[in-house]
Amino acid sequence: MIEVKNVTKKYGSFVAVDNISFDIKEGEIVGFLGPNGAGKSTTMNMITGFIEPTEGTILVNGYDIQKKARKAKKEIGYMPEGVPLYNDLTVKEFISYMADLKLVKRKEKKQVIENVMEDTNLIDVQNKLIKNLSRGYKQRVSMAGALVGNPKVLILDEPTVGLDPKQITEIRNLIKSLGKKHTVILSSHILSEVSQICEKVIIINSGKIVAIDTPENLENNTKKENIITVTVEDLENKIEEAIKPIEGIEEMKLQKDNEDGTKQYSIKTKADIDIRKNIFENFAKEGITIFELKKSEATLEDAFMNLVKNEEKGGEE
Ligand code: ADP
Ligand code: MG
Repeated sequence: MIEVKNVTKKYGSFVAVDNISFDIKEGEIVGFLGPNGAGKSTTMNMITGFIEPTEGTILVNGYDIQKKARKAKKEIGYMPEGVPLYNDLTVKEFISYMADLKLVKRKEKKQVIENVMEDTNLIDVQNKLIKNLSRGYKQRVSMAGALVGNPKVLILDEPTVGLDPKQITEIRNLIKSLGKKHTVILSSHILSEVSQICEKVIIINSGKIVAIDTPENLENNTKKENIITVTVEDLENKIEEAIKPIEGIEEMKLQKDNEDGTKQYSIKTKADIDIRKNIFENFAKEGITIFELKKSEATLEDAFMNLVKNEEKGGEE
């Protein structure tokens, strides 16, 4: 449905998007995930045809967004970042205006507006001025604008920014239900957001794609490391000695030096081993008292942070 091939965007000499390629299939819900400034909005703006790539091509349903702009754009509904809406219009007037922009036929217009308001739950507020609506409703109006003309692809830039938790849940559910009829691309700098809504995640950092995978795979891949967190009283500083004989430890770090004299360490081990028993035995032998011991597995958050960190260091593993 969308093919992005070797796309680069430069602002002057600054490379905002650096030679990215990916495909999005019909019906997928895909999330662009990355920190602020990663290049998410720039990429989305290029797919919608609002800005031109410096290099590379983008096909939307087979149409080149630059060469067949009209046909390609017809397939896309776009919700830009930060809900820029016309405050002095009513909800219905705004949607009607969007219908004009999208060249909806006059005799279909009434029905189109009605359908869109129904899909986004806006019937009750259709005659209110947009400026008087809550942020959550404004977001929905913006989404309604994107839906006019029933485009195959919906592009939603940071759809939940600025919303409270209840509104976030509502928008999420709305996106999921829209995902049944549309191909959806959304962006977010929040991982849980993307992992809860999307079936595919494209992680982008400093203009480059760092990973493309399902949320499940990204999470599984990080479970290769285990972390044990242990709080001890180690009066004679024996901890180094105590862990030395234990096999499979990759790294130990002091995390907290507590006021009560205890210290908290994190110990990273290989994935398939559990060293808790060895820790109990060896620490006891060295006279180290364990106050707390926890085993935690890496989360998707860690996967994301690792990918982004590696990229900043220059892309090494
Ligand atoms: P994201 O949406 O991931 O936060 P953006 O795509 O908005 O990131 O921006 C990517 C980078 O490109 C940022 O460093 C930003 O400052 C820069 N940038 C975006 N738009 C412009 C522009 N019109 N002129 C110059 N630099 C820009
Ligand atoms: Mg952005």
